[in-house]
Amino acid sequence: MIELKSPREDFSKLLPAALRDDFPILQQVVHDEHPLVFLDNAASTQRPRQVIEVLRRVYERDYANVHRGIHTLSERSTEQYEDAREKAREFIGAEKALEVIFTSGSTAGINLVARSWGDANVHAGDEIIVTTMEHHSNLVPWQQLAERSGAVLKHIPITDDGQLVLESLDSLLTERTKLVAVASVSNVLGTINPVADIARRAHAVGAVVLVDAAQSVPHYPTNVRELGADFLAFSGHKMLAPTGIGVLYGREQLLDAMPPFLGGGSMINRVWLDRFTPAELPAKFEAGTPPIAPAIALGAAIDYLNRIGLVNISRHEHELCRYAYARLREIEGLRILGPGPDERAGLLSFTLPEPHAHDIAQLLDERGIAVRAGHHCTWPLHDRLGISASTRASFYLYNTPAEVDLLAEVLAEIRERFRPKGRKRAAGPGKRP
Ligand code: PMP
Repeated sequence: MIELKSPREDFSKLLPAALRDDFPILQQVVHDEHPLVFLDNAASTQRPRQVIEVLRRVYERDYANVHRGIHTLSERSTEQYEDAREKAREFIGAEKALEVIFTSGSTAGINLVARSWGDANVHAGDEIIVTTMEHHSNLVPWQQLAERSGAVLKHIPITDDGQLVLESLDSLLTERTKLVAVASVSNVLGTINPVADIARRAHAVGAVVLVDAAQSVPHYPTNVRELGADFLAFSGHKMLAPTGIGVLYGREQLLDAMPPFLGGGSMINRVWLDRFTPAELPAKFEAGTPPIAPAIALGAAIDYLNRIGLVNISRHEHELCRYAYARLREIEGLRILGPGPDERAGLLSFTLPEPHAHDIAQLLDERGIAVRAGHHCTWPLHDRLGISASTRASFYLYNTPAEVDLLAEVLAEIRERFRPKGRKRAAGPGKRP
């Protein structure tokens, strides 16, 4: 076993080392002896005590259904639920709290737009533009909309190093373009896309812009107005909050004009046997009992992130990622997907000639290192890159350089173990002896 030396010792100067103590789940060993190294944060993050405590407090003291009962607990829950909406509004720089719709996550938010805005506004012959690097959540709903409506789905291609070919945008955008849907950060390549520039160009032809911000809101300061986002979706579980809660931001004017998506309780103003009138925003898009405690806990997660500071968090991740990039590049044959270390967010996907991505993930797990392997819900991107799968290490505020060292050392061992017999390791510049 390679010793993981005090993960707190070499913590970045940007963040307090003690913050690791806030995460009880990180204080464990797996497979009997290996300290857990959690590098699967792009899939889902862990929760600090402060968030878990809020969940406990809600369930032990304050919980009741919201917006309904005229009793103490319902009033407490409603107040905290709406407080969380206000925190989310501020966190993404939205103008009004009614532009913040609580959903179950990014996927739900994007589907809401595709069904409600899409069905009302996209017709046969219209065009929707996505990119080759989209997560299936920001691709399949548009394929479905194109199928329902007869619209045409186009995509912005990428370069071999995982950057959008932005020159193609001017020829892709036409007066028939109704929507441009783009990820702010790729969950595989780490590419940070120039969303504000794309939005400006899309708006020039009258198109609406949806930003899949699942991989950026947890890591970078976000301002929907500066981005030019008409819609923006993100997930709580990728930013220290529980699963089952997410946010869809929509510009008031657009949300106002959209028909409700799900029908049921809470989303109505008045119901008769043969018809209904919808509620005002945001209730119009929050049918049924919402994820009350998870939403309140999302508010606590936002408080936590604000206390540490998103600028500090993103710098810390950037430092870690640069270091990981340099260490992993020393491993002969290891291919890192996506742009260089200065142009990427805090995640690294890679392949080795041998073994397969799933085997790499399993071998890393045997040493306590949690990473993700597969196509990461980006099948078309993997097709474009000419690979069937990759392994991804993704960082968050609690990760340390010592963890990157361990990842690099175990990967180097795996590489050695699977090197074809009789082949000596190539010695070259930058290679470790
Ligand atoms: N978009 C991107 C870029 C993602 O990384 C993810 C999660 N992997 C999603 C959308 C979907 O998020 P969720 O599963 O929380 O709905």
